[in-house]
Amino acid sequence: MAFYKKYFYKICIVGNAGVGKSTLLYHYLKGQFKFRINSTIGSNFFVKIVNIDGSNRPITLQVWDLAGQDHFKWVRREFYIGANGIVYVFDLTDNQSFEDLYNWKEEVEKVIGVKPNILVGNKLDLINSKNRNIQIQNANTLKSHLIARAYYETSAKLGTMVNEVFSKLALEIYKLYE
Ligand code: GDP
Ligand code: MG
Repeated sequence: MAFYKKYFYKICIVGNAGVGKSTLLYHYLKGQFKFRINSTIGSNFFVKIVNIDGSNRPITLQVWDLAGQDHFKWVRREFYIGANGIVYVFDLTDNQSFEDLYNWKEEVEKVIGVKPNILVGNKLDLINSKNRNIQIQNANTLKSHLIARAYYETSAKLGTMVNEVFSKLALEIYKLYE
């Protein structure tokens, strides 16, 4: 059991519909072995094997995505059960998606408490210095509130910083077992 826990992590990716969760996962998992299930709660999971500095064995990440169920709070409890880590995603061009992460945090933590997590501001490719809606200092305030291990700005469209999100989270979970 201890072995299983140390090398097998369940990760959930959360945030409003449209922020780019599925696209982030698509880029992260592209070219990898992956599979998809449609469970009764309308979520998929994907599996990726990763290597982590300091671990003598590969780690299996089971990454769960909401499949069109983003709007239905009442189905999401089961989705979180057993998660070891969370990726919180907002859209850098969409203030509401940022504000709503405060509610996503409450919802997640009601089920699993505080877990290692990463804050992600996505759609970086749409941003230039004039139309950035979420300033880095605001993101850092949310990062502290989430007790997030890191904040990354990504472009799921271009693949920018996408791998870093998941490898950092895997590393942070691994450290709990060292
Ligand atoms: P989800 O509902 O959170 O899973 O969001 P999706 O992954 O379905 O993405 C919603 C829309 O945003 C789609 O049209 C994506 O092509 C687009 N999108 C996602 N990520 C990015 C990004 O980084 N940049 C841009 N320009 N569009 C993106
Ligand atoms: Mg999706």
